[in-house]
Amino acid sequence: MIGGLQKTSLIDYPGKIAAIIFLQGCPFRCPFCHNPDLVLPERFKKPVSMEGVFAFLDSRKGKLDGVVISGGEPTIYNKLISLIINIKKMGFLVKLDTNGCCPDVLKIILKNNLVDYIAMDIKAPFEKYNILAGISVHLEDIKESISLISNSKIEHEFRTTYVETLLTRKDLQDIESYVTGASCYTIQKYIPRDNMVNTDLLFSAAL
Ligand code: SF4
Repeated sequence: MIGGLQKTSLIDYPGKIAAIIFLQGCPFRCPFCHNPDLVLPERFKKPVSMEGVFAFLDSRKGKLDGVVISGGEPTIYNKLISLIINIKKMGFLVKLDTNGCCPDVLKIILKNNLVDYIAMDIKAPFEKYNILAGISVHLEDIKESISLISNSKIEHEFRTTYVETLLTRKDLQDIESYVTGASCYTIQKYIPRDNMVNTDLLFSAAL
């Protein structure tokens, strides 16, 4: 379900003016998550109607370059593919944000060139993934997603949120070594807010 719509962003799709669709639901529980209302089912707000979103996009043809599909984690949404196809039919570029938990969905998207840009978060070096994702992560899925995106011809980037209490500079170097070739890797510094998923973990993790 669509949990939110940001009508304009100048920073979420590199070089483009875009709207952002936020989808509800995410299997991760990153302690630094800024969007718990999109992650924790008990905090979900009333969904935004699909018709309303498409009516808005229709009114922005020629004004917006693209649409970012974010979350939550978009790849767990069972209507993601049709959502992307319908947005593309309207003439918009589509950027997908993902945590890489569902390589099978990414495979379909990449094989069929359904999106124009993918940004994947790499949370941590693999040995620390469970701490930074807040759950027991199937690492093979993360590795497969990194490989699929790296080897695709679709414009992409990998990103890590640098939380000083959870990650070291060596960790960032290790993560960077996972993305090779022409891949773009960016580090964004964590900015504390008061609506995190798990602040206890954030400030007390033993490293
Ligand atoms: S930061 Fe983590 S918990 Fe929050 S939406 Fe992204 S992957 Fe899910």
